[in-house]
Amino acid sequence: MNNDTMSKSCCGNINEEFSEENLCPVCGKKGTLVENFTVKHMVSDDLREQIGEDDYFLCMSEECDVTYYNPKTEIKFNKQQLIVPMWYKKDANPKYVCYCSKVTEEQVINAVLKEGASTMQEVLNVTGAMKNANCRKNNPLGKCCHKVIQFAVEKGLLMR
Ligand SMILES: [Zn+2]
Repeated sequence: MNNDTMSKSCCGNINEEFSEENLCPVCGKKGTLVENFTVKHMVSDDLREQIGEDDYFLCMSEECDVTYYNPKTEIKFNKQQLIVPMWYKKDANPKYVCYCSKVTEEQVINAVLKEGASTMQEVLNVTGAMKNANCRKNNPLGKCCHKVIQFAVEKGLLMR
């Protein structure tokens, strides 16, 4: 798989829009925009009807328990109210880097440390990450996990 097919399969773009109103209601940090479709796939079944039709912001703070929030309606969901652990939040377990193929940061680091993978492509071959990608539905950001995997590869390389 080359870079071109990779971007076709899952690297969609969402327009990032930041303004004062988009701050997390609990920690006050800037959130990142996530489309409604993705939020509906991440929140537990029993809470789904509260979501409505708006897009949400996602709190990217590691320490904060808040995940998706809507500054207009003041509806917010904490990390315990989602169907998957948020990889960047404190104590996330398992810590997925690729949600579509359920590949963890630990698996990526092991591919680098124990199986000799040094490049992104080698790591993808060893771990099976980014296969059958449907990031809009499976990834909490609704975006391609490529950058997060790349970061884990670099982390592994530094541990060699
Ligand atoms: Zn927050």
